[in-house]
Amino acid sequence: MKISCLIVILLLFMPLNGLANAWSDIKTPYSVLNVKSAAAVSVTDIESLAIGSYANGCLAGADALPLAGEGYQVIRTSRNRYYGHPELIHFVEEFARKLNKSGSDDLLVADLSMPRGGNFVAGHASHQIGLDVDIWFRQAAKLQTLEQRESPLELSLVDKDSFEVNGNWQAVHGEMIRLAAESPQVARVFVNPAIKQKLCEQIQGHSASSNNNWLSKVRPWWGHTIHMHVRLSCAEGDKLCQNQNPPVSGTGCEDLSWWNQQMLQPKKSAQTSKDKKKEPKPVKVKPELCQLLLK
Ligand SMILES: [Zn+2]
Repeated sequence: MKISCLIVILLLFMPLNGLANAWSDIKTPYSVLNVKSAAAVSVTDIESLAIGSYANGCLAGADALPLAGEGYQVIRTSRNRYYGHPELIHFVEEFARKLNKSGSDDLLVADLSMPRGGNFVAGHASHQIGLDVDIWFRQAAKLQTLEQRESPLELSLVDKDSFEVNGNWQAVHGEMIRLAAESPQVARVFVNPAIKQKLCEQIQGHSASSNNNWLSKVRPWWGHTIHMHVRLSCAEGDKLCQNQNPPVSGTGCEDLSWWNQQMLQPKKSAQTSKDKKKEPKPVKVKPELCQLLLK
């Protein structure tokens, strides 16, 4: 189906007036997208669309995450990456509220997506369709100042020399990850392999009847020592949004030896990735609707 046959009317609102009103609700400047054709989508008035894939797409009709709410504070707001699909905004607010009710300090919420999604100028390649969010492992006992939120102190949980978590690890970190992974709308939670290893150790000794399927969603990946990256599945009916295949069932704990080897051989890995950089990367072509939206 050719998307170019869609008549897209984008109503562009005025840009945000800076962050002068930083702690109040902010409405997205691009909150309305009317798709006046049922050719590619089955509904005629769609308020929000995640278009394409997590690492090659865009977002129409984003909502802004209010910069502070019950149980969370947004950091590095000057990057303007606190927009997301309404389902992601709702998820973050509910997730923070739940943890807060259990006595946890405020979560520090970093990147979601830009107002229309797409590629960040720097940093990770995903976060393009408003369904990804980075939540830091450091928490805040009270409201941070603007300066503190722009330059937050990192809290790494990983000892890079031993494939183990370090002394910063606390039970609340495991709870954060488990709570996210148990949420039905969450597709994956990316953490450093040493953190996954710690979670795997924690379930050893649990009875075989314990339901540890949530661990299948916890995916080991490079970095992610100071934050977890939570990825939601496409919203129901969002036909232009491309889900990934679901992770295989089981805990995934038996697959960590490769990571262990990689993590403890940093020099070799660094050389390999350097070599890889010499190869030109294939150019990703954005979905046509994104080309219109991101113009
Ligand atoms: Zn991320």
